[in-house]
Amino acid sequence: MQPILVFIETSDGQLRKTSLEALSEAKRIGRNINVEVIALIIGDKIASFANELSSYGADKVLVAEGGDFKDYNTAKYTRALLTAVNKTNPTALFLSATPSGKDLSASISAELKLSALQDCISISYENGVFTVRRPVYAGKAIITVRALKTPAIITLRPKVFAVGVPENKNVSVGNLQVALTADDQRVGLKETVVTAQKKVELTEADIIVSGGRGMKAGENFKVIEELAQVLNAAVGASRAAVDSGWRPHTDQVGQTGKTVCPTLYIACGISGAIQHLAGMSSSKWIVAINKDPESPIFKVANYGVVGDLFEVVPALCQELKKPC
Ligand SMILES: Cc1cc2nc3c(=O)[nH]c(=O)nc-3n(C[C@H](O)[C@H](O)[C@H](O)COP(=O)(O)OP(=O)(O)OC[C@H]3O[C@@H](n4cnc5c(N)ncnc54)[C@H](O)[C@@H]3O)c2cc1C
Repeated sequence: MQPILVFIETSDGQLRKTSLEALSEAKRIGRNINVEVIALIIGDKIASFANELSSYGADKVLVAEGGDFKDYNTAKYTRALLTAVNKTNPTALFLSATPSGKDLSASISAELKLSALQDCISISYENGVFTVRRPVYAGKAIITVRALKTPAIITLRPKVFAVGVPENKNVSVGNLQVALTADDQRVGLKETVVTAQKKVELTEADIIVSGGRGMKAGENFKVIEELAQVLNAAVGASRAAVDSGWRPHTDQVGQTGKTVCPTLYIACGISGAIQHLAGMSSSKWIVAINKDPESPIFKVANYGVVGDLFEVVPALCQELKKPC
């Protein structure tokens, strides 16, 4: 049977955890149905990741390396992925449901004239068919979808699938020769703007402290930042806070922001509109701090504090700072 091909992403010179999640899930399924797992890594100076990829479950590693692939580029990466698909003829293609993974999955789907199954939260393989579960209607329902054609193009929601325990093993590494066309090179990256502060990436954070309109002003987010620092958490925001200019759009959680799945999500001064819940309701534990006991956020919260966040959050911070 044909292999499972996994697209691997790097960030800041490291393999992205979401890619290790996808690789570990491919390994779990691959071992069950006895198919090979091939990791495809695209970039510049990335061949050294091969050993790490093999330890997380790759039976083979394909490397598309060179200056052309230094930065993510839809056309060039699609060409590399298409070359890998043609070379390996996979039964399934796994990508992370990150911005690049979603972009690339859409682009490769168009090339292959297939559908992509986006943002999946479980994957199984039965009777020769991949079946996935994925949230729809802003997280209100979960649908089960079968991929009737191959390769099944599947993006995996970050932080849903566990990263396996690394094993010591050596695998074959192949260089993928990619013939870029003139069309692939039409668009290039002009500038990358890096945020001044090194922050914990929202979609990969284990703990998120978010603020909403209840924060009342941008400068008040310092209480959220302080709590986030104590918990080594990322800071998130509702759209109301972002639209008010208090936080950048990169912090927005929800339907038109990021989908997050942390172990702990603390919502401060957020009412819990359906569009916000769409981005965070799959968090493992939800704590809501809100002065209105009727606020809908309490319907999804595991723990709720009815009170003024400007009293509750600093008090929580003080408690957490105390030595155990
Ligand atoms: C197409 C579309 C897409 C959208 N996408 C998103 C999205 O991606 N993300 C998103 O968040 N929203 C999104 N929205 C907007 C969404 O509908 C809500 O308007 C928004 O989530 C409200 O943000 P909020 O909860 O911060 O504000 P509000 O709904 O105004 O709630 C503020 C809360 O703060 C509480 N509060 C006030 N003061 C205090 C205090 N001192 N202490 C404690 N609590 C206090 C209040 O009781 C209230 O519950 C979208 C809307 C549309 C139409």
